[in-house]
Amino acid sequence: MADKPLRSATIAAQAAGAVDHDSAGVVPGIHPATTFRRGSDNALLAPENQYGRDHNNTVRQAEEVLRQLEGAAASLLFPSGMAAVATLFRTAPNGGRIVAQSGIYWGVSKWARDFCARRDIQLDEVDASDPEVLRAACAAPADLVWIEVPSNPWMKVTDVAQAAELAHEAGALLAVDGTAATPVLSRALDMGADISMHSATKAINGHTDVVAGVLSCRDAESAVWAAISDDRHDAGAILGPFEAWLLMRGARTLPLRVERMSENALTLARHLQEHPAVEAVWYPGLEIHPGHDTASRQMCGGYGYLMSVVLHGGAEAALAALGRLQLFHRATSLGGVESLVEHRPSVEPQSGLPGGLLRLSVGIEDISDLIADVDQALAC
Ligand SMILES: *Cc1c(COP(=O)(O)O)cnc(C)c1O
Repeated sequence: MADKPLRSATIAAQAAGAVDHDSAGVVPGIHPATTFRRGSDNALLAPENQYGRDHNNTVRQAEEVLRQLEGAAASLLFPSGMAAVATLFRTAPNGGRIVAQSGIYWGVSKWARDFCARRDIQLDEVDASDPEVLRAACAAPADLVWIEVPSNPWMKVTDVAQAAELAHEAGALLAVDGTAATPVLSRALDMGADISMHSATKAINGHTDVVAGVLSCRDAESAVWAAISDDRHDAGAILGPFEAWLLMRGARTLPLRVERMSENALTLARHLQEHPAVEAVWYPGLEIHPGHDTASRQMCGGYGYLMSVVLHGGAEAALAALGRLQLFHRATSLGGVESLVEHRPSVEPQSGLPGGLLRLSVGIEDISDLIADVDQALAC
């Protein structure tokens, strides 16, 4: 058993073996200390612990859970998904070149534009889900290729293995934002990506009460990983031990939640697809979705919890239906146990989303209650 890698559900449920050695507790304690003692010989009593910004046992435990779920060589936690993204982008040299997928999480697009302009980095935003478009973008040398799979809220599905090949031909690293897939459904590093990123604020925590982000790598000896580790250590974007502990607690049920959320999302997507008020449903689990085959190959056990629904009647109809929903909370974010809905065109009007689009994050509620809620909201 010792030489056989454990499955995700086992790693998650047992928090990768984290227990409390002092009390024999089945659940680990929280280590809040910001500094650590030395002995009479001035040597650190616990050589791996010196100061709270360097590292912390609780954060290490949470990172170990994520590292194992991701199949990574190493994982590092950050105080938000954006802090993780920023740390990765900062490894690109001034005057370099980044190829980023267009139509991805709006916060990343906006930040990347500002950052690259400041640092004189050429940023090319392309529809990476189209292999020919990505191939053309990778014909010139680059430092980093950034994709999001599936993309939020366009729900496009890029072939990760192919993107890795193209990125490497351009001399670039491939980094994948897998927030909408979670490491349970899709492991980007196994498919050839160099860096995997997740907003742990979303499904990994899953209870809508922690903001966190994570980066994982395939090669912990690589230059980029050294730069990421140094940046976190020296610039100090660290997660607090309480948040790390809560994250580990939430992640114990990640595989179970993802299974139910994906099941609910697929049932709801199929239901909405047939609804007369609906113009289109963007969900990779639907056979008619252009990324369905790729998603079926690279997502294992479900298609995730996120979907976009375009209603007939534009923004007016979408906002009216949004206002009638009773179970779906009208709120930003995604991946929690409770279902959320957001009118993304109001949030990112410059991104060209159809006005009738509502983004749904499907939770673990009883699916018949969720269907009844959308049916009554779409009825008028
Ligand atoms: C939320 C999100 C982020 C940013 O993460 P934060 O934890 O909010 O900083 C990045 N990418 C995707 C796909 C997200 O949904």
